[in-house]
Amino acid sequence: MSVLLLTNDDGVHAAGLAVLASALEDLGEVYVIAPEREQSACGHALTLHRPLRVDRIRERWFAANGTPSDCVNLGVLGFLPAAPVLVVSGINHGSNLADDVTYSGTVSGAMEGTLLGVPSVAISLADGDDFGEAARVARLIATRVLVEGLPTKTLLNVNVPPGVPRGIRITRQGHRVYTEKIVEQRDPRGRAYYWIGGGEPRWEALEGTDLAAVHEGFVAVTPVHLDLTHHRALAQMADWSRALTAQLERSRGRAD
Ligand code: MN
Repeated sequence: MSVLLLTNDDGVHAAGLAVLASALEDLGEVYVIAPEREQSACGHALTLHRPLRVDRIRERWFAANGTPSDCVNLGVLGFLPAAPVLVVSGINHGSNLADDVTYSGTVSGAMEGTLLGVPSVAISLADGDDFGEAARVARLIATRVLVEGLPTKTLLNVNVPPGVPRGIRITRQGHRVYTEKIVEQRDPRGRAYYWIGGGEPRWEALEGTDLAAVHEGFVAVTPVHLDLTHHRALAQMADWSRALTAQLERSRGRAD
């Protein structure tokens, strides 16, 4: 039976992970390697400067003292009896929409799987605690990815709205608008400290985006490409190379 690897960023004891494991249990041999405690908003961090420890919690469930990316590295590169055929990260408690994917530990688990050549899916419940519908969606998408595969360097970022979804849309990444300013306060010793990420960010209601879909009650499935190159900009900037090279040479001439 093929090995499936599950992880998350809410920690190995999170409800969404247990629901995900039972939803996928008959699609393969399901292994869980997840952070021992919550790692939300850890981004795509890897632990390279201290030892990683893995504790067995029960059969095929493991807790690691690292990030979701660490867990996927462990799982794909030798900790499991076989390399996984699918990585699923989630079900996250809270959305991972639009630009937030760059901070998301949930999405970074799927990024790591993708970079290591394993088809990978991140799944998040946008609001609430009822993971039932998200589990149903996770199972459908995992099944389809196991059959169809995914394009190279591409993961799926899935966000499930609260309640019963009206349907499933394939979406593009939306854009949040951060209007909140930083909050500056003074500590008891008179030194300034700052608070970021306060308040509800607004978003652009652009058609076809993950934000619009979830807002309208649809599941958003965004294919995310890990080649961050902007290919149109490559063409637009073609003449920068010669100009910058000439300037670099001239600036050396001045320094001599
Ligand atoms: Mn989380």
